[in-house]
Amino acid sequence: METGVFSHKCNMNPLIKKIFRPPVSYLLGNLYGYLATTLLNKSLTIFVYHDINDNPSEFSRNYDLNVNLEVFTKQIAFINKEFNIINVDHLLKNEIPPRAAMITFDDGLLSYFENAVPILESQKVPSIIFLNMAAIQGDIFFSGLITYLCEKHNDFQKYIINANKPIAPGKPLFLYCKKDLVEKYLKEHNLSLKHEVKTFVGEFATESDLEKAAINPYVFYGNHLFNHEVPVLMSDEELIASYKKNQKFLDRYPNGRNIFSFPFGQPDSCFSFPQVDLLKREGVQRIFYSSGKINTKTSSVLLDRLPLNNFHEKSHQLWFGIFRKIF
Ligand SMILES: [Zn+2]
Repeated sequence: METGVFSHKCNMNPLIKKIFRPPVSYLLGNLYGYLATTLLNKSLTIFVYHDINDNPSEFSRNYDLNVNLEVFTKQIAFINKEFNIINVDHLLKNEIPPRAAMITFDDGLLSYFENAVPILESQKVPSIIFLNMAAIQGDIFFSGLITYLCEKHNDFQKYIINANKPIAPGKPLFLYCKKDLVEKYLKEHNLSLKHEVKTFVGEFATESDLEKAAINPYVFYGNHLFNHEVPVLMSDEELIASYKKNQKFLDRYPNGRNIFSFPFGQPDSCFSFPQVDLLKREGVQRIFYSSGKINTKTSSVLLDRLPLNNFHEKSHQLWFGIFRKIF
């Protein structure tokens, strides 16, 4: 989920945000743009996207995961002009130029293949998508399931609160949804929710979409766990088993790579740093999260990413979004 000041999901009063964000982003955004050459010289800025869609699903809207096609096209043109965009193989060989940037996606929504890839190709921009192969193969998308249950089933909310008391203030309830707890609830209530969650989340890509793009020089696949569980709630065995099961499928594609991004992406609340060490010991080459910062240690195994949304259209808005966490 997006982080930082004025982010769509921050707790700031929406009216105050509506009044102050435009002038503040204009002033700071232009200042950042002016300082960009200095600030970005030895750095790697990694962008994270989920859904590129003019008719986003309820899930994408509720969690600010969508960018429409026109704004996305402008964002990629801006990044292409202001940065040196690299692909994952450059990263793995540490071939990182000044003002380096990467385009990444998470989860595996169909809109990546149908909308994002044609736009990226037209601008000769490579990207990597971190996939949950369970959802690609037609299983229920776990992140969609737990957010759906937390939003629409009151008795499920009570069930999770009772099972996890005390609940930390401000921490979303879905981050307490351990897989076995959820499965127990569904069984007790004789619920599947497969159709409801699919409607709520939107279309996922399929294995035939992956096949078609497997030889596309602009497209790479990475690992986002077999399904979109909350990593910090998983045991070491569960995390590694899910990673390996997913990687086995990804290794079938010539553009599959042994790199990983943490579902939900926030340090501490979603994953732990001992889990980073565990994955490193398993030989994972690069590990991505998303708390909104630019990377200054470009050869680090652990790399941060920042999301953009429909607000980030003009250059000052984009600089404001890119440098939101620099000071
Ligand atoms: Zn994800």
